[in-house]
Amino acid sequence: MPEPLIDSFGRVHTNLRVSVTDRCNLRCFYCMPADNVEFIDRRELLSFEEIERIVRVAVTLGLRKVRLTGGEPLVRRDLHILVARLAAIPEIVDLGLTTNGILLADQAAGLYAAGLRRINISLDALDPQKFEKITRRTGYEQVIAGINAARITGFAPIKVNAVSVRGLTEDEIVPLGLFARRTGVEVRFIEFMPLDAENVWERNKVLFAREIVEILSREIMPLVPCPDANRHTPATEFAFADGVGRIGLIASVSEPFCEQCDRFRITADGKLRNCLFSLAETDIKELIRGGGSDDDIAEAIRASVAAKREGHEINTARFIQPPRLMHAIGG
Ligand code: SAM
Ligand code: SF4
Repeated sequence: MPEPLIDSFGRVHTNLRVSVTDRCNLRCFYCMPADNVEFIDRRELLSFEEIERIVRVAVTLGLRKVRLTGGEPLVRRDLHILVARLAAIPEIVDLGLTTNGILLADQAAGLYAAGLRRINISLDALDPQKFEKITRRTGYEQVIAGINAARITGFAPIKVNAVSVRGLTEDEIVPLGLFARRTGVEVRFIEFMPLDAENVWERNKVLFAREIVEILSREIMPLVPCPDANRHTPATEFAFADGVGRIGLIASVSEPFCEQCDRFRITADGKLRNCLFSLAETDIKELIRGGGSDDDIAEAIRASVAAKREGHEINTARFIQPPRLMHAIGG
């Protein structure tokens, strides 16, 4: 049995996020530029075969969880085929997808049939105008239809991700809390991180997770920590005191979870990254297309994980925003 994927701080890596495209049908201000985005040439995207090969090699190193993301993963043609290939790998006990939901109503049944069960849908605002202000596109109704389709199809768990931005999304907190209670989906509030194109991120635009807990507890009812919370998810999970409605808080800025991090990433153009905020990448596509063996791929993954830094340093003067934006990394 090969050694697990372990970094120099003793963190074992079992969780891979695979970006399948950097393209998107929205233009969320915290993730992409509004216009004139230069996308990766399609020939540079990893094929489904290449992604499956990387995942199968990583499985021999202890990989157990995969999440497909982007850009918007549902704009990648025939994504259900990749889902079926990955769902057929028995060691992958947890296969998930993060989507903006715009195309989900059309694809939900096909993705479910391909073996997908876990789905995260991003929706920062229940007010359609606020949604358009953030995403700089229309499509609110489609996202709601996507969430409903996911519920009807039987996906579980379904989580709704909402980025929290001070001065912008305060009014959405209570409606989203009530939405969690009404629908049974977990709503996860994510602190705004510095991965945006227009350099609008500032620490004082981060609406802190603890403030969100206070607002929900005051305006709806107290939140209590969930006893079954998973130590490896970045979300701290709470339930309302009457047991109706589950809330996750992802405090990436105010309470970084780097110490427990078990993730590594592959970009749509085949670059291995050991952190969202990594400044270095390993070109695994070049390795594969140059005839590299499975052992070469395993060695590249091992070396990338081994070189992981202790943490993201957002809260220090040393922080440097990576040149890749969120949509090109894969959130
Ligand atoms: N397009 C899909 C979506 O929006 O769900 C998948 C990719 S998106 C990059 C993944 C997640 O990252 C989304 O929930 C999005 O809201 C979140 N995200 C993007 N930029 C962010 C930022 N600067 N800070 C915090 N979360 C961010
Ligand atoms: Fe697209 Fe998702 Fe980024 Fe919004 S967060 S621009 S939906 S990739």
